[in-house]
Amino acid sequence: MEKSHIESRLRQMQEEGTRFRAGVEIGKDISWTDLRARYDAIVVATGSTVPRDLAIPGRDLDGVHYAMEYLVESNHAVAGDGVQNQITAEGKHVIVIGGGDTGADCIGTAHRQGALSVTNLAIGVQPGEDRPDHQPWPMMPTIFEVQSAHEEGGERHYLASTVEFLSNDAGEVRALRVAETEYVDGRRVPKSGTEREIPADLVLIAMGFTGPEQDSFTEDTHPQVTDRGSFRRDESYESTVPGVFVAGDAGRGQSLIVWAIAEGRAAAASVDRFLMGETVLPAPVRPSDVAIGL
Ligand SMILES: Cc1cc2nc3c(=O)[nH]c(=O)nc-3n(C[C@H](O)[C@H](O)[C@H](O)COP(=O)(O)OP(=O)(O)OC[C@H]3O[C@@H](n4cnc5c(N)ncnc54)[C@H](O)[C@@H]3O)c2cc1C
Repeated sequence: MEKSHIESRLRQMQEEGTRFRAGVEIGKDISWTDLRARYDAIVVATGSTVPRDLAIPGRDLDGVHYAMEYLVESNHAVAGDGVQNQITAEGKHVIVIGGGDTGADCIGTAHRQGALSVTNLAIGVQPGEDRPDHQPWPMMPTIFEVQSAHEEGGERHYLASTVEFLSNDAGEVRALRVAETEYVDGRRVPKSGTEREIPADLVLIAMGFTGPEQDSFTEDTHPQVTDRGSFRRDESYESTVPGVFVAGDAGRGQSLIVWAIAEGRAAAASVDRFLMGETVLPAPVRPSDVAIGL
């Protein structure tokens, strides 16, 4: 989306009375306890940002990074923010582990930085190109997605089990050992005899996110967490801490922008009712709603 659209919406919200304070980290610059004392209602919309790790030998080698470390730095560099020691794909063989939106962003960014090769690995089965019969419209189908980033190049491999990162003498990653995946007792395991090495100077782990960050909360402000690692909320988006509401990925888990927008609106209606006793604001979705077919 063009930045001008975002800027015009921000201006509109500012003129309506919203105060934006960028560069303030709650839990560090202001404690959650102080925030709660200062405001009658709080909406926690901090996203689902704790990355899922890949605990295989060699994980600590130089050149193995979480996708977001790489993408955030790359964005700052494009914005001209002067990044020191930027992680870059320029002149490198790049492996991206994970076949979702984050992986796709890594593929596109690596190509634009001048990667020598980009290989994308996904552990699951390659989906078909057509909508399966058991997922008719409007269900969300499992299909082979070709995003604009995929059109920029690279190879995609499915049923790929990562076994080990291999090092050069300088402690840098030089390759990833992978195997085909087979199912044993319902579990995905590397198939013996199929191991091979893929050269890599940069490996980006884009295997999803396990939930919102929680370290900054104090005991009295920490909302309870579900068994899936997100903040628990009731059908009015209120968490287990009175007056503290949760919207977007922080409550839903890693999801999509459309859900975050809809949840933000619905949570605003709940906060309005909490403060005023009634509301005329629309509530497009409930926290328990899911996409048809999931
Ligand atoms: C790389 C990547 C690519 C994606 N691609 C797509 C896509 O193509 N299509 C799609 O629909 N979705 C995509 N998503 C998912 C989408 O970005 C999220 O579902 C959506 O942004 C969630 O919105 P949110 O407001 O809940 O959280 P976020 O957008 O994650 O926003 C959370 C905000 O809270 C701030 N924050 C966190 N903790 C604190 C704190 N303690 N103090 C102050 N601020 C804090 C963060 O800095 C951030 O600005 C992608 C996600 C990623 C990571």
